[in-house]
Amino acid sequence: MADAGHGKEHGKADGSNLRHGHSHGHGHGHGHVPGQPADAPTTTFLDDIVSRDGELKRWGTHADGTAKVHTRFPPEPNGYLHIGHSKSICLNYGLALRNKGKFNLRFDDTNPAKEEQEYVDAIKRDVKWLGADFENGPAAGGVFWASDYFEKMYDYAMDLVNKGLAYVCELSGEEVSKRRGTPSVPATSPFRDRPIAESQRLFKEMREGKHPTGAMTLRAKIDLASPNFNLRDPVMYRILHEEHHNTGKAWCIYPMYDWAHGIEDSLEGITHSICTLEFENHRPLYDWFINSINQSRAEKIHHSQQIEFAKLQITYILLSKRNLLKMVQSGTVRGWDDPRMPTICGFRRRGYTSESIRAFCDDVGVTRTESLIDIGRLENACRDHLNKVAPRRMAVLDPVKVVIENYPEGQVEEFEAVNNPEDESKGSRLVPFSREIFIDRDDFMENPPKKFFRLAPGTEVRLRAAYWIKCVGIEKDANGNITLIRCTYDAATRGGENPPPGPDGVQRKVKGTIHWVSAAHAVNAEVRLFDRLFKVEEPSKATGNYVDDLNPDALKVVANAKIEPSILQIGKDEPAWADGIRRFQFERTGYFALDADSKPDAKPAALVFNRTVSLKDTWAKIADKA
Ligand code: ATP
Ligand code: MG
Repeated sequence: MADAGHGKEHGKADGSNLRHGHSHGHGHGHGHVPGQPADAPTTTFLDDIVSRDGELKRWGTHADGTAKVHTRFPPEPNGYLHIGHSKSICLNYGLALRNKGKFNLRFDDTNPAKEEQEYVDAIKRDVKWLGADFENGPAAGGVFWASDYFEKMYDYAMDLVNKGLAYVCELSGEEVSKRRGTPSVPATSPFRDRPIAESQRLFKEMREGKHPTGAMTLRAKIDLASPNFNLRDPVMYRILHEEHHNTGKAWCIYPMYDWAHGIEDSLEGITHSICTLEFENHRPLYDWFINSINQSRAEKIHHSQQIEFAKLQITYILLSKRNLLKMVQSGTVRGWDDPRMPTICGFRRRGYTSESIRAFCDDVGVTRTESLIDIGRLENACRDHLNKVAPRRMAVLDPVKVVIENYPEGQVEEFEAVNNPEDESKGSRLVPFSREIFIDRDDFMENPPKKFFRLAPGTEVRLRAAYWIKCVGIEKDANGNITLIRCTYDAATRGGENPPPGPDGVQRKVKGTIHWVSAAHAVNAEVRLFDRLFKVEEPSKATGNYVDDLNPDALKVVANAKIEPSILQIGKDEPAWADGIRRFQFERTGYFALDADSKPDAKPAALVFNRTVSLKDTWAKIADKA
């Protein structure tokens, strides 16, 4: 039987949705790991770097000669992780795993901004859910906090002061930007040549809280004329009289990202410090800091290699944390895990599997070329996975009652329905059938166009796994809405089989197969039909305000869907979902996940389903199995 679970035709017609159709970064190869199954993660240009490092024995090697690899994912705990982060997580964890290396989760908490335990917990949960187990997995490196390194960072900074490589500057932030110069005019600071001893004293005083917030900064003494503005004596420390979630009141100076990050990487022995492309022209600074610490140091500190890649950007999705927070706070969505959100927890609640997100990340690859990825590729990755593993059930979202007039009143038959046409081992289940059933309203048309193969007056259709029925009449309410469809069934079509040829030798045929649920046995459910949160490919691009691009129809709630009764039990065919979220294909309708708002044990059960992703074009394909 053909199955419509594949949505291969979605996405742009230019082939951008095709697997492995992605561009390669910098001419580096991008192929499957030899000796691994076809769906194993593909290698990336990063793997090429690692194998070259191995040949050069740059980071040392394992006993078998393979290169040492230690990566990290360094989120700031100031929000929830989104689908963009999953790319960074997958590539860092994958690189470590493929090279028998280690992967750290590091909270980059160098800002005294209020830290929310909620964010920390959510980040840990989401990283693990994605499969990057930083605590117990084969590549587990552990959890680290940047703020644990404050003392070390201070020592190294004082070391730079001692070497004449850093100085205390009393220009305000505003003055620094005024004096930053132009490509042809160098920046200036009147404090640049102050004696080392003075900077030593002032930096110590900064730490001791003797100066107010913003009064002075510690700046690296690099090159005020550099064409790379990041090297024009960047700030290393600023004064902020604010409490920190971890260090409390111990500090009133806090390190800037560029100063802190390389030290964090160094202390953790990170080999490849992978970040997004906007940090490319920070790399000279990253290296300058470590080289300056190592200058005339007997025992050099570890110097990681910064490598940049193109961040993930997807159509119809907004990824910046600032905007995601605004959507949550303004009530545009119901929370960080609203299934319309591009957060990892939003996708999870919606029913996406971590396998499908990993497959998507693998599909888009890792390159150094910015591109906007068609969201259809993410949806297809989800369909591809769920098609293989999701049990099939029948559910009617917009029910209209059908009465089968020649079927005995009170009789119930049970039909065997295939659980997953993609996986024979999943077997079948029994579905009760009776005189009154529900079908979906759009599977019936009173005045059908020519190619309509479902139910219509005088025509015959196959009920999935049951009988052929023929429409013999309809009833309507005062507004002209159909309230009842009258049908007859042919007992010779039991199980959906073709009936024997008629006396004239003619074989009757049906073109359509539709799903149904026995009215007396149906379980009611609320179904949340999600659509894209934004109407345009690049939200907020046109007006700068995402609110202008919101899709008002991003959520449609169906209050009274009818589902076959087997849904109340956990079927033998249901996978042991690691995250406990039950997912199904509602035949001909889409993929759905049972929402945490459900109360399956209530009497009667209160079930809520989220539509994960639609099937699209389904009925046309599965219409004719004859
Ligand atoms: P946002 O811009 O959403 O606030 P961020 O970069 O500020 O994200 P961090 O917590 O600082 O969030 O990011 C942690 C890691 O995730 C960084 O290493 C960053 O490079 C990476 N990252 C963030 N966004 C993306 C993205 N869209 N694609 C790939 N990696 C990303
Ligand atoms: Mg950031």
